[in-house]
Amino acid sequence: LPARQPKPKWLRVKLPTGKKYTELRSLVDKYSLNTICTSGSCPNMGECWGEGTATFMILGNVCTRSCGFCGVKTGRPETVDWDEPEKVARSIKLMKIKHAVLTSVDRDDLKDMGSIMWAETVKAVRRMNPETTLETLIPDFQGVEQHIDRIIDVAPEVVSHNIETVRRLTRDVRIQAKYDRSLGVLKYLKSQGQRRTKSGIMLGLGEKREEVIETLHDLKANDVDVVTIGQYLQPSKKHLPVQQFITPDQFAEYREIGLDLGFRHVESSSLVRSSYKAQKHIN
Ligand code: SF4
Ligand code: SF4
Repeated sequence: LPARQPKPKWLRVKLPTGKKYTELRSLVDKYSLNTICTSGSCPNMGECWGEGTATFMILGNVCTRSCGFCGVKTGRPETVDWDEPEKVARSIKLMKIKHAVLTSVDRDDLKDMGSIMWAETVKAVRRMNPETTLETLIPDFQGVEQHIDRIIDVAPEVVSHNIETVRRLTRDVRIQAKYDRSLGVLKYLKSQGQRRTKSGIMLGLGEKREEVIETLHDLKANDVDVVTIGQYLQPSKKHLPVQQFITPDQFAEYREIGLDLGFRHVESSSLVRSSYKAQKHIN
């Protein structure tokens, strides 16, 4: 397929509108709040913000890894900002967020891989926003249980870790990660009593239908509760090209297959991002 084909019509989105969206947008601009929703220009902002959901990134904005699909800068990250937990908690309060998704860059440079900052952030958010529910979208922490335990200990309602792609493409798509290690993280979370676990897959990177189905089976076999499936879009020309635009019918089929396998929730459509409709995944 040519690298730059026009987007099919189902991927064209309207600019976000709505009173709640406009209010939040002005707060975010005024206080320079750092949400993934705005920095990644997510197409779902109108919907998510209208429902009181937003995603915040912690541990800076430079990542030690260099996944081929990801728009985050790779390099040597800045020093850890210990005021970050308070800042995130304050943003959530200002924005009156009902359900917050926290995520981070990977910090393979730190001894604790950022897990202490993760736990401190969850605690700060809880202190300042006792009503807000939380999803933590965590890195693999290289599979180190002691680091994963720090997340489980602070008890977010949902813990997610994205497998991102099928087994065969993992090396090309996220070079420093491992398919089985990610499955192991998900299984470990559940084995330690984490109530809701969740994972996400991007499509359009050259995977075959059978491979997607195999990945759904693998996630189910590792006790994952919720799956998100969305279309990969290239953040810039330097990133992996889109190999295929998956049709709405194909997304619908994966959704049915996922539900038949017994997942509690399956979000599957082109504009789905891993935090889309996140609030409903606590149930
Ligand atoms: Fe923000 Fe995620 Fe919703 Fe996009 S899908 S607007 S990143 S919460
Ligand atoms: Fe992006 Fe996460 Fe990969 Fe870092 S580890 S490059 S933030 S997807």
